[in-house]
Amino acid sequence: MSDSTVVVKIGTSSITDAEGVINRDVIAKLCREVAAVRAQGRRVVVVTSGAIAAGLPELGLGGEHRPSDAITLQAVATVGQSALMEVYRAAFASHDLVAGQVLLVPQDFIARSQYLHARQTLGRLLELGVVPIVNENDAIADDEIRWGDNDRMAALVANLVDAERLVLLTDTPGVLTADPRVDSSASLIEEIVEIDHQHEALAGGAGSVRGSGGMASKLTAAKIAAWSGVSTVIADAERVGVLADAVAGVAGVGTLIRGRDARIPARKLWIAFAVVARGQITVDAGARAALERGKSLLVAGVRAIDGAFDPGEPVELIDTDGVAFAKGLVRHAAGELQAIAGLRSDDLPPGAPHIVVHADDLVTLPG
Ligand code: GLU
Repeated sequence: MSDSTVVVKIGTSSITDAEGVINRDVIAKLCREVAAVRAQGRRVVVVTSGAIAAGLPELGLGGEHRPSDAITLQAVATVGQSALMEVYRAAFASHDLVAGQVLLVPQDFIARSQYLHARQTLGRLLELGVVPIVNENDAIADDEIRWGDNDRMAALVANLVDAERLVLLTDTPGVLTADPRVDSSASLIEEIVEIDHQHEALAGGAGSVRGSGGMASKLTAAKIAAWSGVSTVIADAERVGVLADAVAGVAGVGTLIRGRDARIPARKLWIAFAVVARGQITVDAGARAALERGKSLLVAGVRAIDGAFDPGEPVELIDTDGVAFAKGLVRHAAGELQAIAGLRSDDLPPGAPHIVVHADDLVTLPG
């Protein structure tokens, strides 16, 4: 018996049909597999999508009537989310398990106090024996900074609960060597030690209209998990016994992406991955070298500014070749920084901070 934790994520295209009708058999299968893994003494967190899709048919907006504006879709999600929970609760009850709903927004990973709070609540739910069912809080998530797909959120949740493994269930056997629609020799990549640009190129763009992630966002999620020391398995939701096999590390169950031995601290992880940068700061070669030695970014090293950001917001740091190599929380507003960029500390106006991004708030991006 072990008290290790597994996070399993299932997407919209696996649990709803083209009209958005919830496929109860798929949820029943998932819950049965969760119950089996629980019976091994593991804790399980389910991350589910499907709220938007599931709300559509109830409102007569399924299939070709699907609205495209964000506000309507957010409203629709509230209907679908409760419908989804009804199905999950009933399915888990048949295995004598209790499910509890947790809805998160990116801000919960950005604001340190909310992050710690979410961690405590999830931890207590698991101690109580509950299966937390997590989704993005689509109804209220800010349209500009919401995740949209749940893959990255699942990886951040895996970090939050110190998971041993993240399982991303999808409608393909895993990461394939080519697109099987155009290349019949495409085969499964069983293991990736470190995700590189070639894997990202294989993953292509976004997924279907109904689901939003696609393989690219699964690889991003696996990268986040890897940097938290968590291994990920990307596998077919329809495979019988997929969850137990993914947890046991059965070869060929899907694509295994190994977690790194050295995890980066949670705070740096959320700076690197939790949020979309609000702007870019180009720095000179000297500044880049200093940052890579663990120093802070000073006003003197700033060459150019792009975007509208406020103090405390995430920005990307770009070198003079245009390569984004780090991300951090900026201490100046964009306009204020524009006026002083490149000035040496002695030449700054009184009161202007000479540190632009402090080393504690900065993380060098994985390639
Ligand atoms: N939070 C969205 C939902 O539940 C996720 C959409 C998706 O990735 O498919 O509908």
